[in-house]
Amino acid sequence: MSNQSVKSIHMVDTHGQYLKIKTAVDNAVLEVINSTQFIGGAKVKSFQENLEKYLGVNHVIPCGNGTDALQIALMALGLKPGDEVLVPAFTYVATAEVIALLNLKPIMVDVELDSFNIDPAVLEAALSSKTKAIVPVHLYGQSADMDAIMKFANKHNLFVVEDNAQAIGSTYTFPDGRKQKAGTIGHIGCTSFYPSKNLGAYGDGGAIMCNDSELANRIKMIANHGQSKRYYHDIVGVNSRLDAIQAAILDIKLAKLDDYAAARNNAADHYDKAFADINELKVPVRSSFSDHVFHQYTLRVMNGKRNELKEYLAAEGIPSMIYYPLPLYEQKAYAEHWESSNKLAATEELCNQVISLPIHTEMNEEILAHISNKVSAFFN
Ligand SMILES: *Cc1c(COP(=O)(O)O)cnc(C)c1O
Repeated sequence: MSNQSVKSIHMVDTHGQYLKIKTAVDNAVLEVINSTQFIGGAKVKSFQENLEKYLGVNHVIPCGNGTDALQIALMALGLKPGDEVLVPAFTYVATAEVIALLNLKPIMVDVELDSFNIDPAVLEAALSSKTKAIVPVHLYGQSADMDAIMKFANKHNLFVVEDNAQAIGSTYTFPDGRKQKAGTIGHIGCTSFYPSKNLGAYGDGGAIMCNDSELANRIKMIANHGQSKRYYHDIVGVNSRLDAIQAAILDIKLAKLDDYAAARNNAADHYDKAFADINELKVPVRSSFSDHVFHQYTLRVMNGKRNELKEYLAAEGIPSMIYYPLPLYEQKAYAEHWESSNKLAATEELCNQVISLPIHTEMNEEILAHISNKVSAFFN
């Protein structure tokens, strides 16, 4: 049973998804309330261990949200004010926000038109003696070119912090065939459990992934007021926790994450087929080295009519989103980090072309056909 019909289409159907796991979720939430173990405890530990197993990573440190995860990760690297961090200019603001917040300098670089992800070919030119880290973002559910990024980082002694808020569950394949989950390849990985993310909580949540035990300890300390043991604070930290109710829900949903990705892929396949012959549209390119978990299904509108398409769909009762309308360097808060005459070609182009259609775990053939038909009709 779902509240989705062609008369009420949503970008994400968290309610329809909930109805399918309602008994388990309701029981788990009540269990936490009855235990009054709201912070930490067995539920958080269980989820942490299950996520470590699922991702094949030594350490998962749950925290308050994805933005906190990025901030704590960067704090753990011991960088100095003014140190430079490379980030894609085409991403959600959180990626650059934490860099600026820590008095580091975000160096925004261009992305690939095809994959929407950071372009390894432009990294060299962005280097300076102050460059200390790189934050690749696995945008829309597909991993950036981590083999190239790790080689570049190793060569120049840079830390790699993966922003995996949109691609949890996605698997990356190295050229030698070795497979690793996105978010576990760099020195640190970060993810978000924001409700609309692929592994979404019923509130805020996030996690930090890391294979190095020393680094993991430092991350744990920072997330908990920099304390080594209770009331002994060795370093300046923050307070960032995943609460037990969220952990209990996430544990149930983690067991379904691969099924959820399959449902999203099914929807993406339907769209791909429906739009294959529309010359004005480019469907999302599937990388050879990463599978796709379709956090977003994002089209490129090649005839300059992206905004018209969005308005037309809205009038037809079909929601759509522009992720993201502006390059990071065009955002007022980040303009000081940028030479205003400088434009990154692919980023600029994508900001004018992209449109994301509804995609989630509860789509059915009727809704997919309805949306596809309306989009197709716009171009006929
Ligand atoms: C959602 C998201 C974040 C931030 O996660 P929150 O949990 O909302 O703080 C960071 N980076 C990217 C790419 C995201 O999509």
